[in-house]
Amino acid sequence: YLFGKKRATDIAHMVWKQVVQKGDTVIDATCGNGFDTLAMLNLVADDYHDGYVYALDIQEDALDNTSLLLEKSLNSNERQLVKLFNICHSKMENVVPRNASVRLVAFNLGYLPGGDKEIITASETTSLALEAAKRILMPGGLISIVVYVGHPGGREELEAVESFATKLCVENWICCKLQMLNRPFGPIPIFFYRR
Ligand code: SAM
Repeated sequence: YLFGKKRATDIAHMVWKQVVQKGDTVIDATCGNGFDTLAMLNLVADDYHDGYVYALDIQEDALDNTSLLLEKSLNSNERQLVKLFNICHSKMENVVPRNASVRLVAFNLGYLPGGDKEIITASETTSLALEAAKRILMPGGLISIVVYVGHPGGREELEAVESFATKLCVENWICCKLQMLNRPFGPIPIFFYRR
């Protein structure tokens, strides 16, 4: 329930839950410390379903942190369902199988919490990654983005995400932004649902 959620990522997880089904293939476009990756795996896999998570990050440190969290939290069968890649999310089509029906592509933008604040998502590659996500998302799928505006470049990135949304046709896409009006510098969850 929306008003019980404290963090933008919790709100994003709540929305994913309404869309993602067991057995789905999903993409974590910015895996960072792995919390979103783990939440996604729990949505797509159980004892009866093998869903897959493709988790991407440009930082080795982030992949190491994600890997550690997965080793701690999953059994070896579940661990096999998460595929980690040290690449830019604009290249997601290079690693996700061509025939995969992708239900969710999630971005948690900005820098790695506890890591180097200079290594950060950038408007240009985020826009390219959104284009790639649009190409591979199945009907009934979701692009989820948490945007942070409190750091340098954050506002520009928000503008790039919003400008991408204006090009999505009304017949096929529902685009919404959940901005806390009394938190002008707070993180902003944004969702593009493909009908
Ligand atoms: N989802 C993560 C979690 O649950 O811990 C947090 C993600 S963190 C806010 C943003 C991540 O995006 C950082 O780890 C950073 O290295 C990564 N990143 C920055 N530019 C990227 C790019 N072009 N492609 C993929 N990942 C990128």
